[in-house]
Amino acid sequence: MAETPRDLARFRPETRLILAGRGGALADGAVNPPVHRASTLVIDSVDSLYGETKRTYALEGMAVHNALCEALLAQCGGVGATLAPSGLAAVTLAMLTLARSEGEILVVDSCYGPTRRFCDNMLARMGMHTRYYAPRIGAGIADLISSETVAVVMESPGSLTFEVQNIPEIVEVCRRHEITTIIDDTWSAGVYLKPLAMGVDISVQALTKYQAGHADLLAGAVICREPVMAARVRRAYKEMGLGVSADDAYLCLRGMRTMHVRMAAQSASALRVAQWLEDHPLVARVLYPALQSSPDHELWRRDFTGAAAVFGVVLKPVSDASLRAMLEGLSLFSMGFSWGGYESLIIPCDPQISRVVEPWRAEGPLLRLSIGLEHPEDLIADLAAGMARLSA
Ligand SMILES: *Cc1c(COP(=O)(O)O)cnc(C)c1O
Repeated sequence: MAETPRDLARFRPETRLILAGRGGALADGAVNPPVHRASTLVIDSVDSLYGETKRTYALEGMAVHNALCEALLAQCGGVGATLAPSGLAAVTLAMLTLARSEGEILVVDSCYGPTRRFCDNMLARMGMHTRYYAPRIGAGIADLISSETVAVVMESPGSLTFEVQNIPEIVEVCRRHEITTIIDDTWSAGVYLKPLAMGVDISVQALTKYQAGHADLLAGAVICREPVMAARVRRAYKEMGLGVSADDAYLCLRGMRTMHVRMAAQSASALRVAQWLEDHPLVARVLYPALQSSPDHELWRRDFTGAAAVFGVVLKPVSDASLRAMLEGLSLFSMGFSWGGYESLIIPCDPQISRVVEPWRAEGPLLRLSIGLEHPEDLIADLAAGMARLSA
């Protein structure tokens, strides 16, 4: 949707996010871009109607969409950003861009659940085969590649179970075989990981999470490292008739202006809460690569510059009734899907986990926490009372 942004590279990421997408000719002096409610665009010459050089329909995106895409490129690098109506639609847009019948796609076994559902159902119906691989496979991905492989899909850390992938090793193998690499980088939000700079071809973001930041919109983006792939994604977007409302694009861009400070504050609280949980006698393990106890801590430190405020907790075995009492009695943590907003969330995850390479084994139930902007000591007090209900 947007071209490479004007030269913001000399600034640090925080500054880039403040400048990107600002000052368009249509802003009329305002700090922020205009929100055009539009379908029809009026065109003044017959040649321009069918010339394809100019935007002729609002589905192609208006000023606010371009501004949002510029901000995404400023944050994630890359040369082309295409928006999608949700994070899941961004994942499926990236995959459908590459899909062909008889093709095979290699997908990490710890992927976002709805990604797996899409692969197992819609891609399968199209004659595209999905093969799942273990999250810590690294260079071992080479053994799975065949002449039919069209793409390798990563997600790091994995949804729910937070395994960190060895991205450079996978990229290196895929480069040698000329296979496209895709990463769902929603967890780092393009802030704490720079997959395109590491050679990944396509980075997918659920903007619904940290970019939006306020649990009030759904959006996604597909961001490409090379112009040829960016054009292919853009074409697929157009062929499928995808679009994002101007209001949602505006709110998302507004969220991005503050996402660095929100994420920094939320991450600091998350580490504090995770460390408290780790020491609790009813906790078996905390799944958070930012913790030194994580088996992926060193890999995370090598490739990431920070951690999102989302992690998992494996409890020791407890009864269903006490788990229900623990969760339903919390006052600061709400139960709900999604994450990345300003409010803390908690959810039991076991019904969501699906694995085909290696079964998920844990000491007890798995919870996922998303830490918001409440004071961490208040959150810990809420959890402490909840843990007391667990053992009651
Ligand atoms: C939430 C999420 C998505 C989907 O985003 P939606 O906007 O809710 O569709 C995709 N991938 C990951 C890793 C997510 O956490």
